Amino acid sequence: MTHDIQALDRAHYLHPFSDFKALSEEGSRVIVSAQGVYIVDDQGNRILDAMAGLWCVNLGYGREELVDAATRQLRELPYYNSFFKTTHPPAVRLAEMLCRLAPAHINRVFFTGSGSEANDTVLRMVRRYWALKGRPDKQLVIARENAYHGSTVAGMSLGGMAPMHAQGGPLVPGICHIRQPYWFGESNGQDPEAFGRDCAAALEERILALGEERVAAFIAEPVQGAGGAIIPPESYWPAVKAVLDKYDILLVVDEVICGFGRLGEWFGSMHYGLEPDLMPIAKGLSSGYLPIGGVLVGDRVAETLIEEGGEFFHGFTYSGHPACAAVALKNLELMESEGIIERVRNDLGPYLARRWAELATHPLVGEARSLGLIGALELVDPATGERFDKSLGAGNLCRDICFASGLVMRSVGDTMIISPPLVIAHHEIDELVDKARAALDETARRLANTPTPPLQETLA
Ligand SMILES: *Cc1c(COP(=O)(O)O)cnc(C)c1O
Repeated sequence: MTHDIQALDRAHYLHPFSDFKALSEEGSRVIVSAQGVYIVDDQGNRILDAMAGLWCVNLGYGREELVDAATRQLRELPYYNSFFKTTHPPAVRLAEMLCRLAPAHINRVFFTGSGSEANDTVLRMVRRYWALKGRPDKQLVIARENAYHGSTVAGMSLGGMAPMHAQGGPLVPGICHIRQPYWFGESNGQDPEAFGRDCAAALEERILALGEERVAAFIAEPVQGAGGAIIPPESYWPAVKAVLDKYDILLVVDEVICGFGRLGEWFGSMHYGLEPDLMPIAKGLSSGYLPIGGVLVGDRVAETLIEEGGEFFHGFTYSGHPACAAVALKNLELMESEGIIERVRNDLGPYLARRWAELATHPLVGEARSLGLIGALELVDPATGERFDKSLGAGNLCRDICFASGLVMRSVGDTMIISPPLVIAHHEIDELVDKARAALDETARRLANTPTPPLQETLA
C-alpha cells in the first residue's frame, strides 16, 4: 500500500514547494489520518503536528462539528455562485460574523478561494480605489523583503522571497520591498527597539524617495510567518503606524496566519492596535477543513468601490463557496463558544512562552522567541555562537530528526518554527518542547560528528 502510493506519487504528483527530483528519489511520507493535534502516517506513527498543517488547522483535527457543517451544506446546496445578483445563506452569515469580529471600521468582505487569491484581490482593489479617487498615478505598493503573500504571480510579487522572485520571471510592476524587522537575522546586535524604529524609518524614507503621491499602499504580515516566525520589536508597529498616519497611504495587513487567534486576538491587527484598510484572510478561517479565503475591506475603500465604482470586474467561481463558507462559519462559532481566543491570550500563549524560553539555554539555540502560539528557534554553531555554514543544512537536518521522532517542526533556513493548533493542551506543549529539545540534542551530535558538507536534505 505504502509502496503503491509512493510509486504513484513519484510518477504523477508534482508537489508544491518541492524539489521534484530529490523528492522523487527519496519518496514522500504518506499521511493517512489525524486526530486532535496529531497526524498519523501509514506506518502507524503518531506525530505531534506543531505546524497545524500549514498554519491552518487551528481547531485541531477530527472536529465532527466541522464535518457535519460541510455535509449538511453539501446536501442542501453544494454549489451556487454569487455573481449576477444571487447569494446564499452560508456566505452571507459568514460575512456578517467576520465583520462583527473585525475592527469596527471593517464592514465588508470579498471572498476568495485562498490567501494568494486574497492578495491578488488586494492589489486589484488598491489600484481600483486610487483610480476611482482620481489618482491613477498612485499605484506603487511598498512591501517587505522576506514577506510571504502567496504564490500566484501577484502574491509572489508582493511577497519578498528572493528565491521565488528568481524563478518567477518578470514580476508585477510597481511593487518594491523595504527591509524586514528581523532582529536576530539583520540587526548586528543593535538595541532591539532602536532597530525596530530604524526599520519603520526605512518605510518613510522609501515613501519620500518614491513620492507620497505615487505610493498607493503598504502591505505586511503582523508577524512574518513563512519568513521564519519573525516577531518585530515592540517599537516597530507603533512607528510604522505613525509614518502611515502622516501620509495618505492605504495599510494592508496580511492576516492569513495571524488572523483567527494565532496571536491571542481575533486578528493580529488587534494585538498591535492597527486599523488596516484591507485585511487578506485564509488558512485558520476554516481551520483548513475546506479551502476559503477573503479580503476584509474597511469602510474607506468599500464605500468608494460601492458608491463610485460601478461593476468591479473581479471574482472567482468559488468566491463564497457554500460548503466552505458553512465550515468557516461553524469554525468561527466554535472558536467563540469555546473561548479559544482568550485561552490563547491568557493561558496557552503564556504557557508556551515559558516552556519555549527554556530552549534558549540549549547550546544550539541562539534565540528562542514566541508570541501567542507562534514560535521560533534560531540555530547557531555552539562553537562560535554564529550561524552554521549554510551547506550543512542544519535546519533541514533538525526538521528531519523531529519528523522521525514524532514532531512536525518546520525549518526556514536555520530557523525552526512552530505554529501549533490553538487547542493544544499543556501536556502536549510539554511533549512538543521535550521532543524539540531531544531533536536539538541529536542535531548537535550529528553536526559535531559529520566531517563537512554532505548532509543532504532527507525525508528520513
Ligand atoms: C499562506 C499565506 C498566504 C497564501 O495563502 P494560500 O492559501 O496558500 O494561497 C498569504 N499570506 C500569508 C501571510 C500566508 O501565510
